[in-house]
Amino acid sequence: MSFDRRIYNFAAGPATLPEEVLQQTADELLNWHGLGTSVMEISHRSKEFMAVYEETLADLRELMSIPDDYEILLLQGGGIGQNAAIPMNLMPLAKKPKADFIVTGIWSEKSVKEAQKYGEAHVAATSLNGHFRSIPERSTWQLSKDAAYVHICANETIGGVEFAHFPDVGTAPLVADISSNILSKKMDVRQCGVLFAGAQKNIGPAGVTIVIVRKDLIGHAMAITPSIWDWAKEVANQSMFNTPPTFPIYVSGLVFKWIKRQGGIKEMERRSQVKSSLLYDFIDQSSLYESRVDKNCRSRTNVTFFLKDEGLNAEFLAQSNEAGLAALRGHKAAGGMRASIYNAMPIAGVEALLAFMQEFERRA
Ligand SMILES: *Cc1c(COP(=O)(O)O)cnc(C)c1O
Repeated sequence: MSFDRRIYNFAAGPATLPEEVLQQTADELLNWHGLGTSVMEISHRSKEFMAVYEETLADLRELMSIPDDYEILLLQGGGIGQNAAIPMNLMPLAKKPKADFIVTGIWSEKSVKEAQKYGEAHVAATSLNGHFRSIPERSTWQLSKDAAYVHICANETIGGVEFAHFPDVGTAPLVADISSNILSKKMDVRQCGVLFAGAQKNIGPAGVTIVIVRKDLIGHAMAITPSIWDWAKEVANQSMFNTPPTFPIYVSGLVFKWIKRQGGIKEMERRSQVKSSLLYDFIDQSSLYESRVDKNCRSRTNVTFFLKDEGLNAEFLAQSNEAGLAALRGHKAAGGMRASIYNAMPIAGVEALLAFMQEFERRA
C-alpha cells in the first residue's frame, strides 16, 4: 500500500509525532540555526547544543511543574533500562534490598522480573487473576514495612489500564512508570520519588529516556551499578557521562515547545479526555465492539477494544489500513485492537477512526 498523504498512525510506540514538529525538523535538517550543519552533526558539548539541552530541560520542568528538589536526567536504555537502574539505585535504601510492586499488566510484570536480579521484588497486589482488566483496590495492597520503594505502572500500554491518580503508599517513595502517559495530564510530581518514561510514546523519537528523581534518592546506588545508570554520576555530568542521544533530545525539545503553543498540559489533558471518550462511549453502546477494562481505570492514551466476533479481526485490520488508519492491531500478548492516541494524534484522527468503526459495524 502506498499513500501520498500522511496517514493516521495509532501505533503504540514509536508513535506519531506532531506534523509541525516533523516539518520544522525537515526544514532545519541540513542547516540548523545557520551553522551550515545539522544538529545531529555537532558536539553535544558545543554551546549551541548545550543551549538546546538546557531549554529542553527548562521546558519540561515548566510543563510538568517539576519542583527544584527533583533532578531531570535524559538517559538511554529506555524504560526497560530503568527497570534495572531503579532497583540498583534505590534498593540500598532498605535494610535488605527489597521493593514492593503493584502489578496491573505486562509492563509492571516485567519490572518485577528485572528487579528480582537485585533484591526481593515483593508483589504487594496484582490483577493477574482478573486478566489485568482492573487495578486492585488500594485497601487490599499488602505493602511491606521494609521496602525501599513502591513501583507502579501509571499506564499499562498493552492492556490499556491507567491509574486515575497516583496512590498514597505511605512513607516509601513511589516510583511511577509514566512511559505512555507522560504529559497527557497534570501529574503531581511531589507524590512520587521517581518518574520515568521513554520518549517514543507520548513525546518524540525513540532513544531518550526521561528520569525525574527527587534529590535525596540520588547517591545510594549499589557498587555494581553501571556508571551510565548511576544517577549520581549522571547528575554530576549533566546526563552526559556518555554521549547523549542528541537528535531525540532535540526533537523532544521541539515537541515540548509544540505542547506549550497548544496550551500546555491542561489542553493535552482536555484533548485526551475528548479523544478517549469518543471511542469508549461508542464502544460501550456498540453490539460489535467491547472494552474489557473496568470503567474506572481505562487508559486515555491506549484504548484497547475487541471485536465480539474475533473472526472479523483480519477484515477490520485490512480495511482500516486501507483507509489510512494504521497500526490498530493489539499487542500480541493482549490480542484484539488498540488505538494509541497520544498527544500528537489530532481529534480529527480519532473522529476518522470512529467513523470507520461505525461504518464497519453497519456492514458487519
Ligand atoms: C514502552 C514501555 C516501556 C519500555 O520502554 P523501552 O523504551 O522499550 O525500554 C516500559 N514501560 C511502559 C509502560 C511502556 O509503555
